[in-house]
Amino acid sequence: MKDLVILGAGSAGTMMMNHLHNKLPKGWQITVVDKDPVHYYQPGFLFLPFDIYTEEQVKKPKSQFVPKNVNYIETGIERIDAGNNKVYLTNGKELPYTLLIIATGSHIAPEEIAGMKGSCWQKDVFDFYSFEGSLSLRNFLRTWKGGKMVIHITEMPIKCPVAPLEFAFLADDYFQKKGIRKNVELTYVTPLSGAFTKPTASQKLGYLLHEKGVNVIGDFNIAQVDNENKKIISYDGVEVPYDVLVTIPTNMGDACIAASGLGDDLNFVPTHHNTLQCKLHENIFVIGDATDVPASKAGSVAHFQAEILTENILAYIAGKPLKPDFDGHANCFIETGKGKGMLIDFNYKQEPVTGTFPFAGIGPMMLLKESFLNHWGKLAFRWIYWNMLLKGIAIPFISPKMSMKGKNVETV
Ligand SMILES: Cc1cc2nc3c(=O)[nH]c(=O)nc-3n(C[C@H](O)[C@H](O)[C@H](O)COP(=O)(O)OP(=O)(O)OC[C@H]3O[C@@H](n4cnc5c(N)ncnc54)[C@H](O)[C@@H]3O)c2cc1C
Repeated sequence: MKDLVILGAGSAGTMMMNHLHNKLPKGWQITVVDKDPVHYYQPGFLFLPFDIYTEEQVKKPKSQFVPKNVNYIETGIERIDAGNNKVYLTNGKELPYTLLIIATGSHIAPEEIAGMKGSCWQKDVFDFYSFEGSLSLRNFLRTWKGGKMVIHITEMPIKCPVAPLEFAFLADDYFQKKGIRKNVELTYVTPLSGAFTKPTASQKLGYLLHEKGVNVIGDFNIAQVDNENKKIISYDGVEVPYDVLVTIPTNMGDACIAASGLGDDLNFVPTHHNTLQCKLHENIFVIGDATDVPASKAGSVAHFQAEILTENILAYIAGKPLKPDFDGHANCFIETGKGKGMLIDFNYKQEPVTGTFPFAGIGPMMLLKESFLNHWGKLAFRWIYWNMLLKGIAIPFISPKMSMKGKNVETV
């Protein structure tokens, strides 16, 4: 038998096993490795702190998504020996492979910043990028009476780069509903010059922050969290005081990537931008947050990549040329509070613009504009994720490559 091994059974790894399990030629078998029995719907971590979702709504057993003909191993991955086509597992076993897909994602690393994971971690310094962090923050906010809340991004890239903005919009809404908005000073602190990475969207989203009375401090490169005096301090000496800090720590690829000598400074794997083949080894492919491609680290991106990577894995096995089809396509709903949302659709070359999606003129979704329907789209995404995306079922009318239909651009 020839072995296709998938490392990681999160969004991307699960989609890949479901796409491939009945498409591989005879003589191939799939083995998947993951250390964690629980699959988390990470976009739900945004809603947990505000009591919009419950714990149960954001998690399911991983085993529920594993096809019967896939060999699933629940253990840690220690390192990849790419020279000898082998993976070392933390249970002491070795796993040989013919073809490897790395889908080990990214995680928060608060220990990268002095003082961040200090005595006040999950007391008045919180994250909402992990299940535990999001829950602790929810429990804290339930009884918080107000003060200075600082929402902070440590450095890019981060998963779902719009999530911190969404957090600010939802916080404004949440404190208003609780009747304590006047007691809460919201400040958004970012290493970027504006609200977002792409200029047009940044302008619109920056305006929304302004409208909702959120102060913005840009170009802030954090040096340390001063737990005692409750302030964050930048390298150039700017100090921002807080009563509660909601931070997005450095996002990093898994330690097994570093141990394998396959990653960059942040343990992301250098990956061909359009074929998703590892730049160093031709029988290794990379998908989702684990890559270093300059696309958003998002479940929607993993979904588009999975459709393209499936074709390329089958082409590689058949000895055919790979298709350079991944264009960086990302499609993200942005929750803006008060039951409304925005939608952005973009790729490596085309920044988000206004228009309609997925149909020109008809929509029904509005691009880069607030609407109630976009909010419902965001909430419906959870059902689509559990019932379609993870199972490898394509979403009708939405192609992995970005379509220019309905987009208001003068030149493409
Ligand atoms: C707060 C928040 C909001 C978000 N909102 C959105 C959104 O609205 N829309 C959107 O599209 N995306 C959103 N995302 C991003 C999205 O969840 C991720 O981009 C997506 O889950 C990435 O999939 P992945 O498979 O690459 O990584 P993951 O889903 O994180 O999976 C990685 C898997 O690898 C396993 N693993 C890693 N290392 C090892 C090891 N050494 N041994 C064994 N197993 C290992 C892990 O256990 C995990 O199961 C959000 C993320 C967050 C945190």
